[in-house]
Amino acid sequence: MITIKTKQDIAILREGGKRHARILKELAGMVKSGLHVVDLDARAAELIREGGDTPAFLNYQPYGASRPYPATLCVSINDEIVHGIPTEGDKVLAEGDIVSIDLGLIHKGLITDAAITVPVGKVSEELSELLAATKEALMAGVKAAKGGARVGDISNAIQRIGVAHKYGIVEELAGHGVGYHVHEDPYVPNFGHPGKGELLKPGMVVAIEPMFNGGTKKIQLDTDGYTYRTADGRPSAHFEHTVVITKGGAEILTA
Ligand code: MG
Repeated sequence: MITIKTKQDIAILREGGKRHARILKELAGMVKSGLHVVDLDARAAELIREGGDTPAFLNYQPYGASRPYPATLCVSINDEIVHGIPTEGDKVLAEGDIVSIDLGLIHKGLITDAAITVPVGKVSEELSELLAATKEALMAGVKAAKGGARVGDISNAIQRIGVAHKYGIVEELAGHGVGYHVHEDPYVPNFGHPGKGELLKPGMVVAIEPMFNGGTKKIQLDTDGYTYRTADGRPSAHFEHTVVITKGGAEILTA
């Protein structure tokens, strides 16, 4: 069921989204070669707590998962697409890596979801292009989101950029409604046909999140039950915003 958020809900989401963006910005500033990603997670937990808020992913158990999610953030490095666990495996960032930082935040009971992919020091031209294109796809998806448009308009706007760059567009993972729960309807794929899918109405809140792979679109799930990787080991990028649909467009809540 697709929910329409009230004006009051949206005001809370707007404040939560601001806090969310501030936290992601601070975490992005910590990214450097030699950083243990567990330290990103600890800092995120601290910043959320200081604001009197709650992490949304910690202990969240998605349908089909064998255990609750064990960390505050998802931190996914290079060929890891999404849902990398920063508190397991003592992963350390190295010069030339790219790292996706994905956070879910609960502010006064309402949830925002957003992610950025950050270069570690100087990265290759190929990786810079992957980051720029995935971010561009996110913004194209946001631009296509408006009252009266359809989910397929968002999906297609994202897909067109991925196709233009010949990237692998992840099909098994997608954007989604958000706000009252971490994952709500509608499902927002990163590929699709314009004019098709659910009708977007003002007050709907969705997380738009393109995931582009440098090689194949095929993915595989690690034995940890959460981390998705590219099947060919090529790098992957991920950018995400939570937006509220308005009559003439979409307002980014996590900017
Ligand atoms: Mg999401």
